[in-house]
Amino acid sequence: MRLDRYLAEAGYGTRRETKRLILKRHVTVNGRLVRDPAYQVGPGEEVRVDGKPVSPPARKRYFLFYKPAGYVTSTADKLPTVMEFFREIPRHERLFPVGRLDRDAEGLLLVTDDGELAHRLLHPKYAVPRVYRVRVSGEVSEKALEPLRRGMEIAGERFRPAEVRILERGKGEALLEITLTEGRYHEVKRLLSAVGLKVKHLLRMRFGPLALGNLRPGEYRELTEEEIQRLT
Ligand code: URA
Repeated sequence: MRLDRYLAEAGYGTRRETKRLILKRHVTVNGRLVRDPAYQVGPGEEVRVDGKPVSPPARKRYFLFYKPAGYVTSTADKLPTVMEFFREIPRHERLFPVGRLDRDAEGLLLVTDDGELAHRLLHPKYAVPRVYRVRVSGEVSEKALEPLRRGMEIAGERFRPAEVRILERGKGEALLEITLTEGRYHEVKRLLSAVGLKVKHLLRMRFGPLALGNLRPGEYRELTEEEIQRLT
């Protein structure tokens, strides 16, 4: 883990504050001054701030989950929530889903106890791409999808341009792949409805560097070290 993050998670302030601590020469690793906030703290290395040993932060947990339809993306609700799938995980009450999928939507959901990462991934500034496979009913043509590609305004709300590909087209229906860089409420449904298309099925395939892969509905797996590195 990066040194600035290690210190932030151990309670030494925000990332900005811990970066300053490092740059201002307060931090040693194994007795040597380290001035690079990106220094990777290895297992067993001893970090000190002003000579005081830092207890290693609890390891954060990251799960890639295939949300099935019929579950609410929330930690508490009257209806069944996605967290029901995580009951057997120790300290599962600290976990939460990053972002939302509608109750009737399916697909990739990141579940973690890393609040800082969640905040960053969801912030519009970082424009994390979300890729959806969407079955729609209605007349689909390249021309009808143009407004989505240009970026639309719906009821005074401005939406960023979306990437849209037609994967299949039949009579009165089609399968689309849509990439958005924000996670607004009902975003896919509202954009498509504005061009006269109705969503029949919505599946999120990718979120940033993460892909659903061969998980099946209701299954989850821990992220690999490499995936965690790419996210954080
Ligand atoms: N857009 C939607 O309309 N619903 C989702 O669940 C995700 C994106």
